[in-house]
Amino acid sequence: MKSRILNKYQQVLDRVEAAVNPPAGLIPLGTLDQGNIRYPLVKVTLGMGNAKRVLISAGIHGDEPAGVEALCAFLERKLYAPFLHKWEMHILPCINPTGYEIGTRENHAGEDLNRQFKLDRPNVEVACVQSVFETGPFDLDLELHEDVDSPGYYLYQKDLSPTLSDLGRRILDAVEPVMPLDGSEEIEDMPADRGLLARLKPPDEMEWWPMALYAYKMQCRHMFTMETSCQFPMKQRVEAHLKAVETALSEFPGKPETV
Ligand SMILES: [Zn+2]
Repeated sequence: MKSRILNKYQQVLDRVEAAVNPPAGLIPLGTLDQGNIRYPLVKVTLGMGNAKRVLISAGIHGDEPAGVEALCAFLERKLYAPFLHKWEMHILPCINPTGYEIGTRENHAGEDLNRQFKLDRPNVEVACVQSVFETGPFDLDLELHEDVDSPGYYLYQKDLSPTLSDLGRRILDAVEPVMPLDGSEEIEDMPADRGLLARLKPPDEMEWWPMALYAYKMQCRHMFTMETSCQFPMKQRVEAHLKAVETALSEFPGKPETV
């Protein structure tokens, strides 16, 4: 496995640790033991005690590194500062360390972590994420992904009453100057409107759950799964995700849908 390592998870940990001040904001969630290597799984919390709670995560798919990069930059550049008195931020910088290291969607055991959230006995990585949801309901769940096939940025707005009718659109409008949107009429077999896919499948109808459905089960009502296009350079993908996160945090809750 060693010769195939593309990214070092330890470097992510070092960057996050150096960026978080005070260090008490870095919280261990568990450890993934893989051969001789131990991977500590961590979260960062900022703005503890604020009324609104957001979970921001990346790297659940190991071959989508721009999300991990974006969350490191979010901490290093202190882009969270404008939100420190408004949001309690829980940040998972890299959910799938082994996949991140070898550059695969799945983890070292070939498991797609974003299909594991309905299992009675999920693996360590997913159990660590689930433990974060047990700290209390989140108002907002932002999941950073990437897509190798898409020609531009898009997102899934999965939300329930009160529907944030325009927040997804506002995020995409803010991202567009940084990265073109995927203008396809269908993305992943779902109807799309200039990069916006708005649909939440009923959890009971699904055999497996992605993290967003688990978030819903744990009382979160506004989930955004956001995808850069891997066809653009890393720097641009990072900036696109950062713009999306900042817009979501600053413009939440958006204009509620009027009936
Ligand atoms: Zn993904």
